[in-house]
Amino acid sequence: MSARTTDVDVLVVGAGPAGVAAAVALHRAGRMPVVIDKAVFPRDKCCGDGLTTLALRELEALGLQPSAVESFRRVDDVVVRAPGGRTVVLPLPRGRGVFAGVTRRAELDAALVDVAAGAGIPVHQGCAVKDVTQDAGGVTVDAEGLGQLRAAHVVAADGMWSPVRRALDLGEDGYLGEWHAFRQYVSGVTGPAADRLFVWFDADLLPGYAWSFPLPDGRANVGFGILRASGRRIQDVKQTWATFLDRPHVTAALGPGTEPEGRHLAWPIPARIDRAVLAHGRTLFVGDAAGATDVMTGEGIGQALLSGRLAATAIATGGTAGSIAAGYTRSVRAELVADHRMSVLLGKVLARRRGADGAIAIVDHSGAWGRRNFARWMFEDEPRAIAVTPRRWHRGFLRRPGAYTG
Ligand SMILES: Cc1cc2nc3c(=O)[nH]c(=O)nc-3n(C[C@H](O)[C@H](O)[C@H](O)COP(=O)(O)OP(=O)(O)OC[C@H]3O[C@@H](n4cnc5c(N)ncnc54)[C@H](O)[C@@H]3O)c2cc1C
Repeated sequence: MSARTTDVDVLVVGAGPAGVAAAVALHRAGRMPVVIDKAVFPRDKCCGDGLTTLALRELEALGLQPSAVESFRRVDDVVVRAPGGRTVVLPLPRGRGVFAGVTRRAELDAALVDVAAGAGIPVHQGCAVKDVTQDAGGVTVDAEGLGQLRAAHVVAADGMWSPVRRALDLGEDGYLGEWHAFRQYVSGVTGPAADRLFVWFDADLLPGYAWSFPLPDGRANVGFGILRASGRRIQDVKQTWATFLDRPHVTAALGPGTEPEGRHLAWPIPARIDRAVLAHGRTLFVGDAAGATDVMTGEGIGQALLSGRLAATAIATGGTAGSIAAGYTRSVRAELVADHRMSVLLGKVLARRRGADGAIAIVDHSGAWGRRNFARWMFEDEPRAIAVTPRRWHRGFLRRPGAYTG
C-alpha cells in the first residue's frame, strides 16, 4: 500500500452510467464526489446499446444531449418475431419526444464522463481499485496511481464483477450473472433493420432472445442473450451464434451483404436486485454492481442511472451510515424490486415457446392502441409493475412525452 492518503468526501468507483449518475447527482446536491475508473475513455462496454425511455429520461436529466453522441439513433418502430414466425410491428409515439434510442456504449459512456468532468467533478481514468477496507469512520480505497483515498462514503458502480464487493468479502463464489449475452457490430445493413429495432424470440434461443438495434450509416448492434437458469451450456450457445446471421428472417431484416465488424464479445448480465447486498457500512452498490438489470430483457442502463441517482440522494440526505444505507435500500425497493418481480413472472411466460407465441399473438390482436402502448411499456415508459403498485400511479399514465421534447 502507498503511504499517501488523500481525504475525499464521496468516492465513486466506476464511471459507467451508474457512477456518472451518482457523481452528478451528488455534485448537484453540494457534495464533492471524486470518480475513479480503471478504464481510459472512450472504452468499449459489451452491450446491446439500446436505450429505453427510462434511460433516455435519466440521461436528459443528467444534461446529456444526443447531439453529443455521434452514433445516437432514435427508434420509432419495434419489430417482434414470435418463435412460430408471427411478426408484429410495434410503433412508438411520434412527435412527442424520444421513447427508444440506440447509441454505441463507447461513445455514450465517454460523453457521460464529459458531462461529469464538465461539471467540475474530478474523474481519474486508468485508475483501478486494488483494495478496500472500511471502518466506522470511513472507507479506505487503494487506487492505482492515486495511493490511498479515504472517503466518508463509497458508491460502488464498478459493474458486474464489482471489485469493491469482492474486496469487502461480499462476493458470491461461482456467481456468473443471470444472463449471458453476445454482441456483434455489423455494417452494410440495407434491410428494414437499418431503421427498425428487431427482437427475435427464436425457439432455440428460449429462454432468451436475439436483437438487431439500428445505428447510423447502415450499421447495427446484433446479439442475443440467454438466461443461465436454463442450464444451457455456453459452449452450445456459441455454436448457435456462429450461423445466427444466416437465419432467413435475420438476413431478411438486415439485408444481403451484411458484414460483421470486428469480433463478437460476450459478457454476463446480473439481474438480482431483490437479493443483492445494496449497502454495507459506508458503501452503497449501484447499477450492475447491485444486479440492477431488468431480468426480463437484460437491459440495465436505465436501472444503472436510476440506482446511481438514488444512492446519491441517500448520501446527500445525510444521517448516520446506517440511516443512509437504510434510506438507499428503501428507495431501491420502492423503485426497482416490484418491477424485478414482475419481470421474473413475465420472463417465465416468454421462456417457453407456447408462452412467447401466445403473448405475441395477444399483442398482435390488441389493435393500434394496444400495440403502441405495449411498445411503451416494453421500453419502460412506465415501470414494469406499474399496474400493481398504486403508489406510482399518476395522471399522465401512458400519456407522458418521451425524452428530449425540447
Ligand atoms: C451483451 C449485453 C447487451 C446488453 N444490452 C443492453 C441494452 O441494449 N440496453 C441496456 O439498457 N442494457 C444492456 N445491457 C446491460 C448494460 O450493459 C449494463 O446494465 C450497464 O452497462 C450497467 O452500467 P454500470 O454503470 O452499472 O456498469 P458498467 O457500465 O459495467 O461500468 C462499470 C465501470 O466500472 C469500472 N471498473 C471495473 N472494475 C474497476 C476497478 N477495479 N477499479 C475502477 N473501476 C473499475 C469499469 O471500467 C466500468 O467503466 C447489456 C449487457 C450485455 C452484457
